[in-house]
Amino acid sequence: MCKVNTKILDKISLLSTFLVKWYKGKFDLYEKKRKKKRTKKYIFILIFLIIIIIAFYYFINYKSFLGKINYDINGNITYYDRYGIHLNFKGNFKLDDSYESPTLVLSNGNFERIIDWKLNKNKNEYSFETSEFINKGINLESLESGDYYLLIKTHKNDEDIYFPLINKTKYEDITYYTLSQNGSNKKVSITWDRFEGHELLAFHIKNTDLPDDVYDITIDPGHDGNDAGMIVCGNGDVPNRNGKCLKSDTYKESDINFDVALALKDELEKMGYKVKLTRDSKEDTVPTYGEMGSGTTANATKSKFNFALHHNSTNIPGGMSTTYGFEIYVAGDSSFDLARLFVKNIGKYGKASVSTKKEFKVEDGIYQRFSSDGTPYYYMIREVGGIATGAYQDGSNTTYDANPYYDSNDTAEGYLFELGYIDNVKELRNILDNPSGYARGIALGLNEYLNSDIK
Ligand SMILES: [Zn+2]
Repeated sequence: MCKVNTKILDKISLLSTFLVKWYKGKFDLYEKKRKKKRTKKYIFILIFLIIIIIAFYYFINYKSFLGKINYDINGNITYYDRYGIHLNFKGNFKLDDSYESPTLVLSNGNFERIIDWKLNKNKNEYSFETSEFINKGINLESLESGDYYLLIKTHKNDEDIYFPLINKTKYEDITYYTLSQNGSNKKVSITWDRFEGHELLAFHIKNTDLPDDVYDITIDPGHDGNDAGMIVCGNGDVPNRNGKCLKSDTYKESDINFDVALALKDELEKMGYKVKLTRDSKEDTVPTYGEMGSGTTANATKSKFNFALHHNSTNIPGGMSTTYGFEIYVAGDSSFDLARLFVKNIGKYGKASVSTKKEFKVEDGIYQRFSSDGTPYYYMIREVGGIATGAYQDGSNTTYDANPYYDSNDTAEGYLFELGYIDNVKELRNILDNPSGYARGIALGLNEYLNSDIK
């Protein structure tokens, strides 16, 4: 009996020791957790306070920066425009020799970026421009969110001096939306602000949703339901007077342009861009100008790029054209960085060659054609570029409606593609077999440009 009792007692004491230990362990764990929770809370409060202090510091710095600007000196902005993804300025200022090495900066006291410019000095008078090319300058896609001012920074007696630029143009604020990337956009408001009565040029940049009526890229499939452009026969025959081929299929340039445009829209949308077509079907008719014409939709939708798609012909009957290949028409005073990438990629994915045409050629695949007044010959380049490209359809020509953006400084960068000669039977076949190859070439050319450092 006694033995049994001892055994039971032993077991009970073992169990109670175990229970006490178990409870203590639990309690310790609970205490540890509580401590951990409390530490977490303190760390959180600390981080929050640090953020508040930093934000406050930046705000004070920013406000005192506006106060530190020397408003006794002014520079002048005499020209500015937004063409495509770039913003360009021309201007002047006077500065005596006690001020050293002026630079153009975007600054807010916390962050500063030097803006490239071409500066000319004549005694105390300076003149500047941000780029000699209309499609270079300040790349609006590359700016960080925040509030900045465009200022001239100079030095006197080892001290930094900032002074503002005054608007001497008739143009006012510009609102720019960056290209859609990963489904997000930034709004860049370029505004003529005032600080204590003084004028200065501000850049306010923040994340935003793209408004419904704003697009990244406009595509114009050349011609429309009323205007076929060139009509050709699949076997090289000449169509009859009614524009019909009797022994083979009939092809209208307007339809081929539309097929490539649809394929291009698809390629660009797959890359995340928001794309507007100037017509939605092969039968649609589109005015040239007016509110949403072929030459105005790009600006009505704040598009950054306008791609006009065409196919060429030599008007040599019988499909016997010996000219072949694609031509990309670009505006004057343009850098060819993007055009060259189109040439490379259309050649590769369209399995096409650069045009054999010599007239208006500036380099392989790249063409420039001007009217006698020096403006681009093609309205799809001239009119979509506003003041950057010398647009002039103001309504005084009664043949057309007015282009509401002819005098605008906030416009799209235009390219006109002649993707091949459809009166060359071999080339017609290549285009009909592979419209999406040409489209992919244009889309990948643009994407390569936007993702490179050259822009
Ligand atoms: Zn055409």
